[in-house]
Amino acid sequence: MNIVLIGVQGSGKGTQAKLLVEKTGWKHITTGDLLRDNIAQKTEMGMKAKEFMDKGELVPDKYVFEIVRIALQSQREGFILDGFPRNQKQLDFLRANFNIDYAVLLDLPDDKAIRRLTARRHCEDCKKDYNLLFKPPQVDGICDVCGGKIVRRADDNEMAINKRIEKFHQETNPVIESFAADDLLIRVDADQPIMNIQKEILTKLGIEKTEN
Ligand code: AMP
Repeated sequence: MNIVLIGVQGSGKGTQAKLLVEKTGWKHITTGDLLRDNIAQKTEMGMKAKEFMDKGELVPDKYVFEIVRIALQSQREGFILDGFPRNQKQLDFLRANFNIDYAVLLDLPDDKAIRRLTARRHCEDCKKDYNLLFKPPQVDGICDVCGGKIVRRADDNEMAINKRIEKFHQETNPVIESFAADDLLIRVDADQPIMNIQKEILTKLGIEKTEN
């Protein structure tokens, strides 16, 4: 199955995608991570993308289309696409080139998303994710896995967070409406415990049956 995972930043897309991968074996493809890989490897595209990402702006479509095309064209077993499409043009590109079975929307109010994002951290070395609200490291500032330093992502500062949330509503709402109009949208309440959200996704995708 090919699905798109949509949600305001902080809605738990990454966490839910990882759980879905364990359950289904589908490949998790996230444009944010692909772009950060390019930055880490100092590719020409990475250097261009960084300028936009640090300001909380969207990276221009020509770069993002290229990385999405390369990442998706080799997938035969199904994928969970996370972070794309974020606007109408990206949606048109995706629907013209790839089959999408469902779009799963993780629904979370903005004030809750801001609280979660402000507390988000990750390990500088192994990239393990933490959240000071509900998934803190055992020792303050030190990664549980590799002992690396725990840092805030460069674009998780307050100004960039507010900008990204505003952009999400401006640009991604039409994408959500379009999936809904085509009867492909599955709406899930993201303000509940992680495993309840996962259960709701699996049930609504028809992978797990409802109890009783
Ligand atoms: P994320 O990890 O999804 O929060 O993405 C981090 C940043 O990567 C975003 O703020 C954008 O600058 C860039 N980015 C990720 N996905 C896209 C996309 N589909 N289109 C444009 N820029 C993107």
